[in-house]
Amino acid sequence: MHEIEVDMSPEHLEAVKAAKELFEPIKEKTFNTLMNRHQRRAAVAEERHADRPVHTVLTMAGSKKIGRNQSCPCNSGRKYKKCCGIGA
Ligand SMILES: [Zn+2]
Repeated sequence: MHEIEVDMSPEHLEAVKAAKELFEPIKEKTFNTLMNRHQRRAAVAEERHADRPVHTVLTMAGSKKIGRNQSCPCNSGRKYKKCCGIGA
């Protein structure tokens, strides 16, 4: 049973190489598409956080970016963009 060993003829290796060259950019494109999808999902998750009540925002304020239309975490009752977020 030596047929499998001799199966990798130079023509076959050439074909494998050509196929790799063909698929390499596609793989990269697929990877980028997946990354974009992941980033979009992360952005959607962040928007959902923006709907959370103020006390939740306060606990997240240290580590999370505050949405400009959210209530300011300093408890002024104003929107962040009209309060501490001015110019940010
Ligand atoms: Zn403020």
